[in-house]
Amino acid sequence: MKKILVTGGAGFIGSHLCERLLKDGNEVISLDNYFTGNKKNIVHLIDNPYFEVIRHDITMPFFIEVDEIYNLACPASPIHYQYNGIKTIKTSVMGAINMLGLAKRIKAIILQASTSEVYGDPQVHPQKEEYWGHVNPIGKRSCYDEGKRCAETLFMEYHSQNNVRIKIIRIFNTYGTHMLPNDGRVVSNFIVQALQNEDITIFGDGKQTRSFQYVDDLVEGMIRMMNTEDEFIGPVNIGNTNEFTILELAKKIIDLTNSKSQLVYKPLPEDDPVQRQPDTSLAKSKLNWEPTVQLEEGLKKTINYFQKELKKLKFNK
Ligand code: NAD
Ligand code: UDP
Repeated sequence: MKKILVTGGAGFIGSHLCERLLKDGNEVISLDNYFTGNKKNIVHLIDNPYFEVIRHDITMPFFIEVDEIYNLACPASPIHYQYNGIKTIKTSVMGAINMLGLAKRIKAIILQASTSEVYGDPQVHPQKEEYWGHVNPIGKRSCYDEGKRCAETLFMEYHSQNNVRIKIIRIFNTYGTHMLPNDGRVVSNFIVQALQNEDITIFGDGKQTRSFQYVDDLVEGMIRMMNTEDEFIGPVNIGNTNEFTILELAKKIIDLTNSKSQLVYKPLPEDDPVQRQPDTSLAKSKLNWEPTVQLEEGLKKTINYFQKELKKLKFNK
């Protein structure tokens, strides 16, 4: 039985990861400050004697003895990471320093949840790990993008200078159950709007693209990466290669929900990337990993989840 720390454990991805790691027979500790996470994502795990929950902010040092650390703590939705940009950078940078310092002291292996945002508004398509990116250092998205880029640098330095065992994955747009109705990202926004027959908010002309991965595929990729031989440290892209325009996504969600929603066009947020699609050949060759859940199947599961969540919200009003 391994002892595993998951920072951001009450968040959308973190809660799925905790659940899977427990199912695999590990002892799991969730650390979270609940900025964008929610206890309801992990409450079903509380009765498990091998699960522990700690309220803590990773910008502050933290001491514990574990074998592995998955570092996920950081708001990921643009509206939430832009709410307090300074805090977002502190979470990525000071959080990485604190967690890497811990990993160094206790000789744990540590995995960083990095992001496709390190490629910024990419001028190379699809994006391979060798691409250095095209990132505005002073724009609205910089607090997240540059924080995550600096965290990758810190991981590499702790590895080369201090022999810390590291793993870096670059996650592409992921969706699924446990997203909050007010998360603000496109899949949850569109589903919540469609289920309530409200206007679907298309930012810009909707021709920008994203490649959407279902959360179960990501969790499988994360665990495979953590368990590869020490020599393979990444970074490695983890995402679905099927690319869709935002308009295509909206139409698919309207169809699947039989919604009467209309499309409304809103201004495109600053520095919103025009296109994004991972090249996942490295993950395939090194981790023998490929996504298995395609968009329609993943959307159906997520729609079903939000139907229940919205009913609960109405009932509690
Ligand atoms: P999320 O916002 O649901 O989860 C983040 C969690 O971190 C939340 O529970 C939040 O409360 C917690 N947190 C934030 N700041 C903290 C702090 N200072 N101390 C302790 N906890 C803190 O987002 P998510 O989608 O689950 O993302 C998880 C990780 O994966 C993030 O690091 C994100 O950057 C990365 N990622 C996600 C995606 C995606 O599409 N979902 C894509 C790329 C990268
Ligand atoms: N988007 C949109 N309507 C929304 C929310 C998002 O059209 O209600 C667009 C957004 O402008 C972006 C894409 O959907 O082009 C993905 O946005 P999200 O915030 O989910 O992720 P990111 O931009 O970080 O990839």
